[in-house]
Amino acid sequence: MEIHRIPVGLHQANCYIVKNDGDVFIIDPGARPERIKTYLSQDERVAAILLTHGHFDHIGAVDELAKEYKCPVYLHEEDEELLKDSELNYSQTRNVTVKSKLSFFTEGVLRIASTELHILHAPGHTKGSVLIGIRNDLFTGDVLFKNSVGRTDLAGGSDREMKNTLRIVKTLDKKLSVHPGHGESTTIESELKTNPFLKF
Ligand SMILES: [Zn+2]
Ligand SMILES: [Zn+2]
Repeated sequence: MEIHRIPVGLHQANCYIVKNDGDVFIIDPGARPERIKTYLSQDERVAAILLTHGHFDHIGAVDELAKEYKCPVYLHEEDEELLKDSELNYSQTRNVTVKSKLSFFTEGVLRIASTELHILHAPGHTKGSVLIGIRNDLFTGDVLFKNSVGRTDLAGGSDREMKNTLRIVKTLDKKLSVHPGHGESTTIESELKTNPFLKF
C-alpha cells in the first residue's frame, strides 16, 4: 500500500492519497485540488473520497475532486450538517461547503471497490468524527495527533465523548500506524508511551 501525505491550506490539514491494490482513496481533501491531482496519474481511478469529519480545513477541495473523478464522497451522517453550514464548519466568510452527493459510513467493515475499510465512530472533536482503518494504517483526523488530541470546545465537541473515544483508542492494535489530520504520523504503540492525553 502506498500513502502520500499532502498538507494543504490555512491550517495545513493533511490530505492523504492511499493506493491499495489499484484502489485509490483521497482522505480529507481540504484545499489545493490542483496539487492533490498531481499525485494521481491519468489512468488511475479514484474509488472514493473519505472524510474523517466535516471541518472546513478537511473538505475544501471535495466538490472539485468528486466532479473530476466522478467518485462517491463518504462521511459519518452526524457531520453532514457541517458540510452545508459555514458557521458550523468554521470557514465563516470563506464559505466552504460541500454540494456533492454524500454517502454515509456504516460502522465496522465497509467494502469499497476491492478494499476493506474499518470504520470506527469516534465522537468528541465533532459528533461525526471517525477513525478510518485500511490494513495496518489508521487515519485519525482531528481525534488523535502525535502527542496530542483534538480540541473539544467547538460545536458538537464533547469532553465526555472524547474520553470514551480515547478509551477505545487505547485498546487498538499497538502496531497500527497512525496518520493524523495535522502533523506527523505515529503509531498506537508510541502514543501509548508518550501521549499525555492517553495516560488515564
Ligand atoms: Zn477539525
Ligand atoms: Zn483540522
